[in-house]
Amino acid sequence: MTELGFLKKENLVEFLKELATKSVVYVPVADDDVVAFKLFQENSTICLDRPANIPPKTVIFPQYETLLTFTFSKKEEQPDKIDVKIQEKMDFKDTVIFAARPCDAKGFTVYDRVYKDSDIPDPYYVGRREKTVIIGFSCPNVSPGCFCTAVGSTPSDKEGSDILMTEVSGGFVLEPVTEKGKAVIQSKFIEDGSKYLEEAQKKQEDVKNKVKNPFKKAGKPQISQEKFNDDSFWELALSKCLSCGACTFLCPTCYCFNITDENKIWEAERLRSWDACMFPHFTLEASGHNPRPTKFHRFKNRVGHKFLYYPEKYNGVLACCGCGRCIRYCPVSVDISKVVDELSDTNSENKTLTSNGGEA
Ligand code: SF4
Ligand code: SF4
Repeated sequence: MTELGFLKKENLVEFLKELATKSVVYVPVADDDVVAFKLFQENSTICLDRPANIPPKTVIFPQYETLLTFTFSKKEEQPDKIDVKIQEKMDFKDTVIFAARPCDAKGFTVYDRVYKDSDIPDPYYVGRREKTVIIGFSCPNVSPGCFCTAVGSTPSDKEGSDILMTEVSGGFVLEPVTEKGKAVIQSKFIEDGSKYLEEAQKKQEDVKNKVKNPFKKAGKPQISQEKFNDDSFWELALSKCLSCGACTFLCPTCYCFNITDENKIWEAERLRSWDACMFPHFTLEASGHNPRPTKFHRFKNRVGHKFLYYPEKYNGVLACCGCGRCIRYCPVSVDISKVVDELSDTNSENKTLTSNGGEA
C-alpha cells in the first residue's frame, strides 16, 4: 500500500473540516500547558510540536463511560415481582484520531490483544476501535524521557496507525497503512506525495537516531527473576512514590478499569471508569486482605505486567511503548526505564540504587 498522499500545510484545516463532515474528529489541542485530544473545531489550537500530555486512549477507552442503563418497574397487582429493562449504550460513531504519536497508536495494539483479539472481546472497546481511523504522526522531535527505540519501536512506527503522516517542507506526507487509512486520503485536498518520500524517510531516520537508549544492553530488556523477586530492590527504588496513579492514567498501554452501579430509585446506570494498579484499593479484597499492601508491591506489579507477564502471554511483546510520559509527569521523578535497566540481567551486582530508581 504505497500510494503516498501529500497535504499542503495551508490545507490542513480544510482537510480536517472535510473529515469532520463524515466523522467525529479528535485533534491534539494545546490548552495552556496541557495538550490533550479534543473534538476538532475550526479554531482549535492544534499542537503538533510536542506529544500530548494525555494520550488519545481517551477516545477509544474513555475515562468514564456508561455501559448500560436499567430501569425497574412494578405492578400494583404483583408486588413480589420487579421488571428490569436493560439498555446497552453501544451507539459508536465513525471517528478519526488525527496526529496520534506512533507510541500512542502502538499503545492501542497492546489493548487489542486483551480487549479485541481475546476469547472474550470487550464489545465497547471493539465497537469504538473498529469505527476509528488513526492518523499517526511521525515524531518531528524527541521529548525528554522518550525511549521507544529501546522497546522495539521507532518514532515513525506504523503499527496501530491506519495512516502515517510525516511533516516535510510545505506540508505532510500521508502513507496509508490499512484500507481504512487509504479511504481517508481520498480527498480533493490530498495530492500525490511520491516526490516527498525521500525527504520524509530522511526526517524519520534523523529523529530515530536522536532517541536515547536508557538500557546498557542493546535489544529489548530482559528482566532478571532474581532481582525482580528481591523486595529490598523495590523498597529502595520506590521509596519516594506517592501512589498518585499519574503514571498509569497517562500511560497509553494501561487499561485497568472498575465497574460501579449508580442507582436512583427506579433507574440506574452501570459505569466503567479507569482504575490503576498503583492505587491501594485496587486489589483490596472484601475480607480486608490486600495482596499488594504497599506501594512497592504495586509498582513491582506495574513493571512486572509490562516487562514480564504481558510478554509471557503475548509472544514477547512488551506492554510499554517507551512514550516516556510516566517519567516526564511523575511528581517525584520515578523513572521506569532506570528501574528496568537495574533489573536487567546484564547489570553488575554492586550498583547503588537511588530512591528514584536511578543510579547514585
Ligand atoms: S511512580 Fe510517580 S506517578 Fe506513579 S504513582 Fe508513584 S508518584 Fe505517582
Ligand atoms: S510505562 Fe511509561 S514509558 Fe511505558 S508506555 Fe507507559 S507511560 Fe509510556
